[in-house]
Amino acid sequence: MADRDGKRPQQIGVTGAGCVFRNAFFVWIAALNPFNPKPRSCKACSKPFVPTKPMQAVCSPRCAVKKVRQDKAEERAKVKTRKEKALTLSQRRARAQVQVNAYVRLRDADLPCISCGRFHEGQWHAGHYRSRGSALHLSLDPRNIHRQCAPCNTHLHGNAIGFRAGLIARYGQPFVEELEADNTLRQYTAEQIDAIKDEYRVKTKQLMKERE
Ligand SMILES: [Zn+2]
Ligand SMILES: [Zn+2]
Repeated sequence: MADRDGKRPQQIGVTGAGCVFRNAFFVWIAALNPFNPKPRSCKACSKPFVPTKPMQAVCSPRCAVKKVRQDKAEERAKVKTRKEKALTLSQRRARAQVQVNAYVRLRDADLPCISCGRFHEGQWHAGHYRSRGSALHLSLDPRNIHRQCAPCNTHLHGNAIGFRAGLIARYGQPFVEELEADNTLRQYTAEQIDAIKDEYRVKTKQLMKERE
C-alpha cells in the first residue's frame, strides 16, 4: 500500500534505523572475514612474503615485472608446442633434410664435387644421387647425399652420370650397386623423422668439434 508520494511506508526506514542496521551488517561481515595476511611464496622468486593486498602474487615491483616476463615466456612456449604438434610429416621431413644436408656438406668439406671432381669457389649443395622425387625413402640417407657444386646440382640436374662415376671412385662399385638396389620402403613416423633431425644435428656438432 503506497501513500500519496508513491513511497511505501517501510522504505522510510532506509534513511533511518534500517541504514544503521545495514552498515552494522557490513561491519559484522568484514569482522568475520578480515584480510588476514599469511606468508605466501612469491610467484616470481619463490621466496616467502607477507602480502598487503588479497590477490598479491609477487613480493615486490621488481618481481611483478619478472612475473609478467615469465608469463609471456610461458605463453610463447605454449604457442611453440602447439605449432610443433601441428607440423605435417613433410614439414618435419624438410626440417630433417636441412640437418642431414648440413652434416653431408661438412662431412665432404675437404672433398671435391662428387660429380665433376672440381673444387669450386661458389656455392656447395648437398646433392641426392637418387632424387627425392623418385626415391623418397633415401632422401634422408647420407649414403645417397654428397657435397656437390652448385653448377652440377642445379644446372646439370644432379649430373647423374658424373655422380655415379664419382661414387664408384670414392666408395667402390659395391657401394653404388647396393644403393641403387635399395628399394626398402621407410615409412617414418613424425617421431622417427624428428629423431633423424636431432641425430644429424648432434653429428654435425661432433664433426665440427673433431675438425677444430
Ligand atoms: Zn619475489
Ligand atoms: Zn660439380
